[in-house]
Amino acid sequence: MEYYRDDHQNLLIRLLKSRGSDLLMQMYDADKIRRNQVGDNVTFIRNQNINFSNICYTGCKFCSFAAHEGSSHAYRLNQLELEEQTAEANNNNVTEICSTAGLDPKSNLETYINVLQTFKKFAPSVHVHAFSPYEIYYLAEKEDQDFEYILKTLKNNGLMTLCGTAAEILDPEVRDILCPGKLTSDLWIEIIKIAHGLGINSTATMMYGHIDQVHNLAKHLQIIRGIQEETKGFTEFIPLPFIHNNTYIYKTGLARAGSTGMEDMAVYSTSRLYLGEFIPNLQSSWVKTGMKFASLALSAGVNDLGGTLFEEKITRFAGGNHGTYMAESEFIRFIHDANRTAIRRDTLYNPIEVFPVDDYKVWIDL
Ligand code: SF4
Repeated sequence: MEYYRDDHQNLLIRLLKSRGSDLLMQMYDADKIRRNQVGDNVTFIRNQNINFSNICYTGCKFCSFAAHEGSSHAYRLNQLELEEQTAEANNNNVTEICSTAGLDPKSNLETYINVLQTFKKFAPSVHVHAFSPYEIYYLAEKEDQDFEYILKTLKNNGLMTLCGTAAEILDPEVRDILCPGKLTSDLWIEIIKIAHGLGINSTATMMYGHIDQVHNLAKHLQIIRGIQEETKGFTEFIPLPFIHNNTYIYKTGLARAGSTGMEDMAVYSTSRLYLGEFIPNLQSSWVKTGMKFASLALSAGVNDLGGTLFEEKITRFAGGNHGTYMAESEFIRFIHDANRTAIRRDTLYNPIEVFPVDDYKVWIDL
């Protein structure tokens, strides 16, 4: 494997397996390194999700979001609904619209261009962070075009950054069971690198806590770091704990019931220690773990708590119960309670508004 090194693999496995007081020491080290790399600021973003269709026949076994045409929870936004949701995001003063969809047989490049043009028309100043490498692959197949053509066309119509989802675990050993119909690790890597080469930055994600073992996660982390060393195109790394409740792979006994808290803290601290020099921004996802736990990860190397979302379907359909919206005041409250400065940021991590921790101390004293 292009990015594989035995010595890194062994180190990562040791870090990912850390538990008990060893893990506490590791979290302490990750926290110290976080302070050196990004300081004491904790960021969040005002964003809104718009998932314009959940119709998809790929059959990823961890997914409860997808539906077949005509099934009870299938939906496809019509033009009016898309316009209304975009206008609503604009009225909510978000700085980012985050948009992905299932691989809907009725979607083609024209559909995606229309989605982007609708965003531009009804939320003209909002950053469009959208589409996974798998959607790019799908459009390329459908239009009989190469990835570069699809990405350039989408960029010319308003795509600003790409979602780093559909990565799951970039190891065929996992993908062959978890999502056998999906694009391969090699194709995910290829599309991400082309996007970065075209100036389309992306996030990087890792979904874990299902059938994966530590050696799979170690490989994934090596790939993410290897790509970043080449392209510098990742804006952040987001570990995503698997939400199991309604998924086929859990119900059939193939997957475990998500990660444990210890496992999560080992993943956050390992990510900071291994990736922080290359990808300084590490996010914990409140929608997966709840804000209490996500904010605890601020002591394990995390410096970002994600976004307000306003609307969330993918985790909710999988049985997640941590809500679909987080108020800005809640981000600030949790960040200040960690004795850190809260910063509302844009998609590319430029600060927009600073909330100094001292303001909160005054409030507590009252
Ligand atoms: S994860 Fe995405 S590609 Fe896979 S089934 Fe769900 S919607 Fe379809």
